[in-house]
Amino acid sequence: MNYYSLHNKAQKVSFQEAVVQGIAPDRGLYFPESITALPSEFIQHIENYSNEEIAFTVISQFVGDEIDEASLKEIIKETLCFDFPTVKVEDNVYSLELFHGPTMAFKDVGGRFMARCLGYFNKDKTQEQVTVLVATSGDTGGAVASGFLGVDGVNVVILYPSGKVSDIQEKQLTTLGQNITALEVNGVFDDCQDMVKNAFLDAELTSQNLTSANSINVARWLPQMFYFFFAYKQLKQQGKEFVFVVPSGNFGNICAGMMASKLGLPVKQFVAATNVNDTVPRFLATGTYEPKPSKQTISNAMDVGNPSNFVRIQEIYGQDTEALKKHFSSFSYTDEDTRKAMKAIYETSGYVADPHGAVGYLGAKKYLENHDDLCVFLETAHPVKFLDTVVDTLGVEVAIPPQIEVVLDKEKKSTLIATYEDLKAFLVGRNL
Ligand SMILES: *Cc1c(COP(=O)(O)O)cnc(C)c1O
Repeated sequence: MNYYSLHNKAQKVSFQEAVVQGIAPDRGLYFPESITALPSEFIQHIENYSNEEIAFTVISQFVGDEIDEASLKEIIKETLCFDFPTVKVEDNVYSLELFHGPTMAFKDVGGRFMARCLGYFNKDKTQEQVTVLVATSGDTGGAVASGFLGVDGVNVVILYPSGKVSDIQEKQLTTLGQNITALEVNGVFDDCQDMVKNAFLDAELTSQNLTSANSINVARWLPQMFYFFFAYKQLKQQGKEFVFVVPSGNFGNICAGMMASKLGLPVKQFVAATNVNDTVPRFLATGTYEPKPSKQTISNAMDVGNPSNFVRIQEIYGQDTEALKKHFSSFSYTDEDTRKAMKAIYETSGYVADPHGAVGYLGAKKYLENHDDLCVFLETAHPVKFLDTVVDTLGVEVAIPPQIEVVLDKEKKSTLIATYEDLKAFLVGRNL
């Protein structure tokens, strides 16, 4: 399968090149040249297939013949080493729990899949090292670090905004060692993301093997389609129309859901729920796309002022905002709304939602004000990852799961940087 740059359709590369480069040389995001719907029998009888079989069917066309069938199946098997349950929260509202993986956030899926694809493409180049550069607002870094830990020939450099990720997230980024390095940036997430984007434009760096593991990378973005199918498989017997509500920051997750619907998954509506970083809901309301600097919130993995993947969403809908609006709505919520929702969910059903899931729940409730469909909100992280907020808001204890327990006592190791020059000096100094 070929991918084109969203800045220039003539600029085409293979899947492998798209994964290895991360972003096109002209700074455009890569987008698949064609999208072929899956056979309707497959969707109708989805309950007859295992999650691994579904994932293989869904991703095959996007990989093409660039990874052999047996290897791709193995990559999928290692990616999907955990469950994706749906839990009823109240009538018409289900939580799709994406937090049962090693770092307890949905990004484990993309992180693991991408790490293994890159490992596959690099398997014969034992001399050359690849450096994966990734900016994180919280969860990406941990998932990428965990996915790549110990992968031969790949070094991972993670940039995160100092003091703006939760304690557990910081531990997950900074304690792994081996081929993983954490750079603590004196700034906000957008500064981290800008530095990464600049590095990819810097000829002195890109002549080396530098790639990105943000959701701009197709190998992180596309496997996120899988669990929209898994949720459908679990809930289709309810016989209702499906609405997915996705707590959104960089809009990679919801954009993957829209790709799933392009493949034939029956989804009536996508709802993007955001915190006060509301560039997309404002765009839908006013018609003007006006990014703003990100603001810090209790759902910090969504503190994104200029969502990278929105351009892909526009491409999926043929750059037609009216077509997009028929299938897509978006609402924004304050921290106060989020805390109230966490309490309401807990009081009505005993369910403990993390702040991101609670924002999703609010989007579902808004949609249900004038519809009667089945709303599935994505519970994107385990509540323990936002322990302070959850304990403080709900006054409940949250048991620490084993995969978190192990990092808590480890020592944080990070290098402080403030500017792009610092990043460059660091990368050059290590000779990549
Ligand atoms: C990354 C993340 C999000 C936002 O996902 P996008 O794909 O960037 O929209 C939401 N919740 C959590 C917990 C995350 O880690």
